[in-house]
Parts: sequence; C-alpha cells; structure tokens
Amino acid sequence: MEQRIENSNIALPLVVLLAACAALYWYPSLSVDLQAIFVWLPYALGAVAISLSWMFNRRQLVVVVLVCCFSYWLIHRFLQQPLSQPDALLCFTLVSLLVPFNLLLNQAISENGVKTLRAKVMYGVVALQGLALYLIVMTHPQALLELAQNAFAPRPIEGLIISLYALAAAGLWMAISFVLFLLKPNSMSMGLFFSLLAAIAPLAFLDREAISSVFFSASMLLVLISGMRTSHELAYRDELTGLLGRRMLFEKLSGIGRQYTVAMVDIDHFKSFNDTYGHDVGDDVLAMVASRLATVGGGGQVFRYGGEEFTALFKTDDIEHAREHLDAIRQEIADTPFAIRDKKKRDKQSAKDRKDSNKPSNTVQITVSIGVATKTAKHDDPEEVIKDADKALYKAKEGGRNQVVAARK
Ligand code: GH3
Ligand code: MG
Ligand code: MG
Repeated sequence: MEQRIENSNIALPLVVLLAACAALYWYPSLSVDLQAIFVWLPYALGAVAISLSWMFNRRQLVVVVLVCCFSYWLIHRFLQQPLSQPDALLCFTLVSLLVPFNLLLNQAISENGVKTLRAKVMYGVVALQGLALYLIVMTHPQALLELAQNAFAPRPIEGLIISLYALAAAGLWMAISFVLFLLKPNSMSMGLFFSLLAAIAPLAFLDREAISSVFFSASMLLVLISGMRTSHELAYRDELTGLLGRRMLFEKLSGIGRQYTVAMVDIDHFKSFNDTYGHDVGDDVLAMVASRLATVGGGGQVFRYGGEEFTALFKTDDIEHAREHLDAIRQEIADTPFAIRDKKKRDKQSAKDRKDSNKPSNTVQITVSIGVATKTAKHDDPEEVIKDADKALYKAKEGGRNQVVAARK
C-alpha cells in the first residue's frame, strides 16, 4: 500500500467537470431566474475561493482566481457580440493566448506564500497585462487587428472557435501542466491542472450558451477543492516523512471498532546516529525508514507517531498475522543498507573533492525494534492498547533490539 503519495485523487475534479458539462446541457431549460444566478456564480465562488486561498497562504490559487475572474469579466464586457467586431476579435484573441499561458506560468513558479515579493510581482504582472489588454481592445490598433484576423483567425475547425495557434499553445501548456502534476502529484498541482482545463474549455467553445459562466464557476470550485485538500494535508500529514501523523492515527482509532492490532516501531540507537552523522542526515534516514515501513503488508497502515517512532495499525485481532508482516519489514530494513552523504566528512573535504560527495559516500545499517499488541476485552480505550504495544517495544529493546515482541493477551 503506497502511503507516501499525497491526496491526488482525481475523482472529485472529474465530477466537477462532468457536472459543468451537465449544467451546460440543461442550461437552456432553466428558468430565467436560475439562468441569472449563473451569470454571477463565477464571481461569488471566486470571492470565496480567493478568501480561502489567502487564508491558506496559497499564491498559486489566488492568481488562478484573479486570472479567471478577470477573463470572465472581459468575456462579458466585450464578447457578447459577433467576433467580426474589432474589439470582440482582439479581446478573444488576446484572452485565448494569455489566460492559459498565465495559468501555466503560475503553476511552474513554485509556491512561497501570498505576501512574498514573488507573489507581489505576479499580481503586478497579471494587473499590468489586464490593463494593457483593456487598452488594446478599446483602441484596437489596425496592425494588431490584421494579425488577429489572419494569423489568429478564429474558427479554424468546425465546432471550435479558438485559433489554431492558440489551440496548439493551449495544448502544449496543458501537457506541461499535466507533466508537472505527474512529477508532484498533490492536491495543489492537481487543482492547478484542472482549473487550467476548465479555463480553456470556454475559450475553445465560446459560442455555446453560458459556457463561460459554467466553466469559470467550475474553475473556481476546483480552486476551492484544492485549497481545502491542501489544508487537510497540512493538518494530518507529517511533512518530513509524508506519512499521516498522530492526529490522524487517533481519529482512525476512534472509529475503528473492536478488532485491531497496534504496533509501535522505534529506530534503534538513533540518538548516537544523529551524534555521528548530524541531524540533517538523521532526517534523511528517518524519511527513508518511513517510506520502507509504509510498504508493510497485511493491510497495515503506518503513521509517524512522533520523533523516530512510528505506529502501524492493522484492522485485525490476529496478532500473529500482524507480527509476521512486521517481522518481514523489520528484516528488510535490517538487510538493506541506507545510502547517506556524510556531512561531517564533506565539510572537511576540499572544494575540489566536493563534487564527488554528491555521490553517496557512505552506507549505514539501521535496525528497528517493534512492540505489538491486540485490542482485547481488558482494554477500555485505544490508548491502553498503545501502552501495551509500548511495553512490548520496551521488551524488544531490552532483548537486544532489532526484533518484534508481541504483548501477551
Ligand atoms: P533506542 O535504541 O533505545 O531507541 O535508542 P535511541 O537513541 O533511538 O533512543 P530514543 O528512541 O530515546 O532516541 C530518540 C532520538 O531520536 C532523539 C533524537 O536525537 C532522535 N530524533 C527524534 N526525532 C527526530 C527527528 O525528527 N529528526 C532526527 N534527525 N532525529 C530525531
Ligand atoms: Mg524513541
Ligand atoms: Mg530509538
């Protein structure tokens, strides 16, 4: 069971996009009052999305809201008339080129908060582009108009409106955005990819009734989902190891029922490891041990309990079954040397040698001790089961470490 991957489940974004398609289909049969709500929906959702994104300190989401709401406003201001009108044509051409590009650029520039210099530069760039775009559309200079009519002629393909170049560029930005998502599959990159998709759709099929209202609303919803999932991950997931933390462990335990087994895992002699190699190398090893522990079989789910201690939770009262799987992972950890870069040695090396120190200069052997206990009638609450697992862990340490000890029922 892969437990390090963050929440990159794409089911919910796909549901939002399908709901948008359904809304588009049923839009003409809605009452006039309901249709009027749709016109304001992107702004209403955008206001909620930008407030939450600001609270969650996520510049990338703030920029998506700004870009989408501004393009939605432009579409309503200039594109409720045929594209043969100069200002409509220029507005459409510039929006279809700039919106996808800005959204991708925003995804590619890494997140560092909403009030940083990087964030302010990005808000400035978006605002300046908006202003320039508005002025160009209002004055519609002849040279640009000819370019829009010829090179960026709309309706290149039956059913589509977006020009061939804008479509090719949008396709390329989508592909890059998808690769960025695959490289870092978390709820942020997923939200950014899907909001880009939702922003391109209305540009490609602009003549469908209400398409911009529906799809920019979907885009704002995707931002909201992404923000909420990110904050959930921050609350429940341990940053160093990528494992779920103690908070989630206790939530799971509170609803787990009566049959479960808990194992407490502690790295052996980790204090002296830190003393020898330094805290940073200790952190690297901690993360490596965590990712190996996370592959424990038998349906075990692994959490970082705190420090260099982990908890594995099995939904079974068969302690022998859990013990076997835990012993297999203990053995695997003991048998596999961890490659590390020895910081202390590296610091002493000359600058010339330092290049080579990018290669692992050392391997270390790590062992873990494990205590395991199953919930029985004598346990009133999960804390007592954890206490018994801890006692068994203590016995494993006393017995010479690198072993699994099961508590007696
Ligand atoms: P034992 O075999 O008895 O478990 O010996 P130990 O040295 O591992 O003893 P203990 O479990 O009490 O040591 C915990 C040490 O783990 C203390 C600290 O140096 C180290 N540690 C705890 N959390 C972290 C962390 O997040 N990063 C690093 N690098 N070290 C940590
Ligand atoms: Mg410990
Ligand atoms: Mg220890």
